[in-house]
Amino acid sequence: MTDISCKLLVIGAGPGGYVCAIRAGQLGVDTVIVEAAKPGGTCLNIGCIPSKALIHAADEFHRLHEFSEKAPMGISASAPAIDFDQTLAWKDQIVSRLNSGVSGLLKKAKVRLVSGQATVLDGKSVRVDSPEGSHTIHAEMVVFATGSTPVELPMLPFAGPVISSTEALALTEVPKRLAVVGGGYIGLELGTAYAKLGAQVTVVEASTRILPQYDKELTAPVSARLSALGIEVLADAKAMGLSAQNELLVETKAGQRALAADKILVTVGRRPRTTGWGLEKLSLTMDGPFIKIDSTCRTSMSGVYAIGDVTGEPMLAHRAMAQGEMVAEIAAGHRTEWDRRCIPAVCFTDPEIATAGLLPAEAAAAGIETVSASFPFQANGRAMTTEREDGFIRVIARADNHLLLGLQGVGAGISELSAAFALLIETGARLEDVAGTIHAHPTQSEALQEACLRALGKAIHV
Ligand code: FAD
Ligand code: NAD
Repeated sequence: MTDISCKLLVIGAGPGGYVCAIRAGQLGVDTVIVEAAKPGGTCLNIGCIPSKALIHAADEFHRLHEFSEKAPMGISASAPAIDFDQTLAWKDQIVSRLNSGVSGLLKKAKVRLVSGQATVLDGKSVRVDSPEGSHTIHAEMVVFATGSTPVELPMLPFAGPVISSTEALALTEVPKRLAVVGGGYIGLELGTAYAKLGAQVTVVEASTRILPQYDKELTAPVSARLSALGIEVLADAKAMGLSAQNELLVETKAGQRALAADKILVTVGRRPRTTGWGLEKLSLTMDGPFIKIDSTCRTSMSGVYAIGDVTGEPMLAHRAMAQGEMVAEIAAGHRTEWDRRCIPAVCFTDPEIATAGLLPAEAAAAGIETVSASFPFQANGRAMTTEREDGFIRVIARADNHLLLGLQGVGAGISELSAAFALLIETGARLEDVAGTIHAHPTQSEALQEACLRALGKAIHV
């Protein structure tokens, strides 16, 4: 047993924890980070990165497949083949490059990385057990960045054909029939990828439509594409369990269905990782299942902070990173607090959905009088040249002073516009600012300018 002392101790090296530790190290704070698995957390190892790699591979394969069936633009191809082992190896090599990258950055910032599972002893110390030995680490300030895990349904525990996103990202072959329980972010991203790789996919969604957190207008192009890809969506449907033949039993409004499936992917949300590491000893104030934090990410215990998925929605990597950076500044003695105006979100479906700020219904619920307009990609030259005219960009602004409150878009490759959406809200831009900015032609971003022009009653191209 060795004793380690430091100023800042971070538990968990996901996007929240590793960003916090690197920034603290850069600021000269003596920092230790403990990680039970691999640096990078859920996002880098079993989440954002491998899922986006799989989505990209599936897109490329599907495109070739389309070329082999018809010859758009005069381009034809013979039926493509896929060596899925090689696809997985390519994905794993991206993950491992990023693992080394994070470890290298921690080292460069003079952060000590301790491998092993941390168990809380009190608000200032933890014990870490690893195959190499045990350590007790004492710190002046502790940050919990332990992340989240997939929610398991009692009638469909993860075993046999029933898998979580983690297993779905490491399948050795493309399942012939894939049933997805939960038509949210993960279910639709991975369900679409597997459909493009050749699986017959059925999505079972408890709500009346997919991605229920967004309005119907925004999700309609995604629904249309799911249907074009041959993905069946059973909405307003409940997964009841498995039959003796391992079929997925589903209760729908039209009666019970038994879905034959080689794999059943359950993606009904994620829960914060708050048990199994001694957190209960501290009796921290909780916010439902999450650790309650204030605007500085401080918990109810002095010197104890929490960041990332363990602190609540939205469970997104970039939120965790922004919180991590802020807490590092606090550890270095800077005065700062959370004053971000928006956390953008991207759903990597086909087409992608990007949002920042308020949805129309949220603005209405807040009692704000707004002006709103959208511009369809059907009227955007760039969209025509890339053969993706589905989707639109929508803007919502205050009616009185035209301050932008919300920007949303659905369209192929629209994820890259999320930065513009967030920047406009964060910098307090108005409709006139976007309308008066020259947008390069021909680009998808012209639809953003046109949506603002339209909200001002000055649209040119519709
Ligand atoms: P995590 O990334 O979960 O990291 C927590 C770390 O803490 C883990 O490495 C864990 O091993 C470690 N740990 C936990 N307890 C202990 C302990 N006691 N001792 C030592 N170590 C411990 N978000 C996006 O923004 N964009 C996306 O495209 C996206 N795609 C996703 C796709 C999938 C399939 C999944 C599952 C998630 C996706 N997410 C995405 C969500 C994103 O992964 C999380 O929001 C993000 O990883 C949260 O970061 P975190 O640092 O809070 O926790
Ligand atoms: P989710 O909350 O996005 O979707 C879960 C879906 O399951 C919802 O539509 C819900 O109505 C449905 N559902 C719940 N219980 C059900 C049941 N019993 N039967 C059928 N449907 C049911 O959750 P997720 O897809 O598991 O993703 C978890 C989190 O991970 C997301 O909320 C997000 O924060 C993060 N994530 C982000 C990205 C991204 O940023 N692109 C990608 C993947 C995951």
